[in-house]
Amino acid sequence: MSIQERPILLRNLRNYLTFLKDYGFSEIPSESGVTLKLPSGTNKLSHCSVGTDKRPEMKAKKIVTTKPNISIEEVREELGDCTRCDLYKNRKTIVFGSGNPHADLVFVGEGPGADEDEQGFPFVGRAGKKLTEIIEKGMNLNREEDTYICNIVKCRPPNNRDPKPDEIEACNPFLIKQLQAIRPKAIVALGKPAASTLLGRTVPIMKERGSWHEYEGIPLMLTLHPAYLLRAYTLENRRNVMNDMNKVLAKLKK
Ligand code: URA
Repeated sequence: MSIQERPILLRNLRNYLTFLKDYGFSEIPSESGVTLKLPSGTNKLSHCSVGTDKRPEMKAKKIVTTKPNISIEEVREELGDCTRCDLYKNRKTIVFGSGNPHADLVFVGEGPGADEDEQGFPFVGRAGKKLTEIIEKGMNLNREEDTYICNIVKCRPPNNRDPKPDEIEACNPFLIKQLQAIRPKAIVALGKPAASTLLGRTVPIMKERGSWHEYEGIPLMLTLHPAYLLRAYTLENRRNVMNDMNKVLAKLKK
């Protein structure tokens, strides 16, 4: 494992442990008898303790079948008037997410821009109009009723710079919980930062777009970010995005 990969792997591991904890696991037995106890009320992996009590093997719990007992409102409440990273210093509003929290389809973008920061809703600027067009004209879905849209960070990075790793990290538990609360049939990651955050590795988006992946058992499609599409408005890019969305529609029909 390279030094650069370590934080990503650790983040992935922590996210997975958080996910298990939220599903009611309190510990993870291993063949050696060492038990990793998952802490209550914290998401910090560093708070996990390792015990050696031998316990009867835990029956594998099916993770993805039942609706979780956390609601999107509870996730919003837990986020509160967030100051977990420095992005709060320049934001006007927290852009939590919008749409139907019971939707089959969730789009995950990068972070709010100026329009989103002003209005408090994701994807309401130029890139948002393009996304709405893709959803409504391209996919024949209703944005508000058929989808839920959110971002990997909920506050606008100053001057629309890319969110920093620590900012993504601080916000990630809330993205995880949003997806747990909604449990859609499919997720679409819009662009490289969203794809990389959801998969916990650096994703070469041009290479991997159009392919199915999994996020905690949920089919995950990677596609181009609508802002990129606007910048590189080629027939090929537009076709590619529409092909990706057709795959999503086919998955939703299954
Ligand atoms: N770009 C994003 O990634 N998210 C938004 O909400 C708006 C633009």
